[in-house]
Amino acid sequence: MKDGGRPAEKAFVRTVQGDIPPRLLGRTSCHDHLVVKRVDGVELPDRFVIDDYEKSALELERFKSYGGGCVLDAQPFGAGRDAEMLACLSRTTGVHIVASTGVHKCFFYRDDFWSYRASTEELAALFVSEIQEGAYAYDGGLPLLRRSDVRAGVIKTATGKDGLDDYYKKVFRAAAIAHRRTGAPVLTHTELSAFGVQQARFLIGHGVRPSSIIISHMDRIIDTAANVELAGLGVYLDYDTIARTGYHSDEEEIRHIRTMVDEGFGDRIVLGMDSTRDRLASYGGSPGLGYLMTGFPEKLKENGVCQRTVDRMLVENPHTALAFKPGEDYGD
Ligand SMILES: [Zn+2]
Repeated sequence: MKDGGRPAEKAFVRTVQGDIPPRLLGRTSCHDHLVVKRVDGVELPDRFVIDDYEKSALELERFKSYGGGCVLDAQPFGAGRDAEMLACLSRTTGVHIVASTGVHKCFFYRDDFWSYRASTEELAALFVSEIQEGAYAYDGGLPLLRRSDVRAGVIKTATGKDGLDDYYKKVFRAAAIAHRRTGAPVLTHTELSAFGVQQARFLIGHGVRPSSIIISHMDRIIDTAANVELAGLGVYLDYDTIARTGYHSDEEEIRHIRTMVDEGFGDRIVLGMDSTRDRLASYGGSPGLGYLMTGFPEKLKENGVCQRTVDRMLVENPHTALAFKPGEDYGD
């Protein structure tokens, strides 16, 4: 009890269908892509485009049949996100989906994209409004005219190969402001695992709670020392280079996870597949999202990672990482 006897509000996760207690999410992919549409004026490689409703629904049905409960869709504002399609997918399949606000790396935008001109405060106001009121609807390009009633549940940010330059610092400052105003978690993209520690320190320095920070792709180019330093900051590391043999084998992925678990960081790891079309079975790819729920956990266990730790990475850690945690001070 605080604030003169007012009971502390309970933690919740903001899904595309509404707010739910974290424990109802079930087994969760913390970084994936269910919908990425083309944006006018942006040359997106075909393998990035995930825009067939029936196929995405089929992928989710399979994910669910293998025990999947929730997917975080990591495509943010203006980058081909379609929050209304995500809400439809969630309703028809029964899989929980968390949608992203925030902005992605420059690769996903036209050179004249609004975020380059916007102030920190304007960016923060956009992120807050997408979390509290609803995400802007997909319209194929700019300007983004219509707000949907589907609310975002995470703030996505990114850095490119040069780390936090002036532009990305502006975006990260805005993400931190939006976190402090709403309690929404922050999910970052790292380019080939670089600058994860820099990202986390910057966000923490700007008032983001470490347990609300998820740093993605820290297993692309494996640097154990950087991973250990990052985990020591109390943030979550998202390992999503699973079944991506262009980077390394799953055996190497599992060795890395074992190392981190043995170092005592099993409570700081979340998992995802960061899918492109190449890995979504319903789009003709392999092995499909269900692999994260069955094949990969089995391989982890065969290689000495216990069930308890697997459950932490797929269930308990995502539940904490994705939770809005009211009752703590979010005054800005
Ligand atoms: Zn991604």
